[in-house]
Amino acid sequence: MKKPTTKPALMPKMYCNFFGHDYQVSKKVTYHVKEYTCSHCKKQLTTNSNGSLIELTPKFKEINAILERIHNSRMERLKEKAILSSIY
Ligand SMILES: [Zn+2]
Repeated sequence: MKKPTTKPALMPKMYCNFFGHDYQVSKKVTYHVKEYTCSHCKKQLTTNSNGSLIELTPKFKEINAILERIHNSRMERLKEKAILSSIY
């Protein structure tokens, strides 16, 4: 039997417990929704619909991916409109 070689990263978590997480924006989903990652322990947060920060669970990752797609396609459409209105 082999023992799993991956050790839990204890130090960064202890650091965060002491000094607090150091969240940095890792992804901009829409104007209002962003994803944050702690530079020490890699814990991830996201903005929810109320604008407060919550843990980025797989469920919210999914929601953010959908939001991002909607946001991007809306941006594309706006660009097209802008081009059309500049022609006519
Ligand atoms: Zn942290």
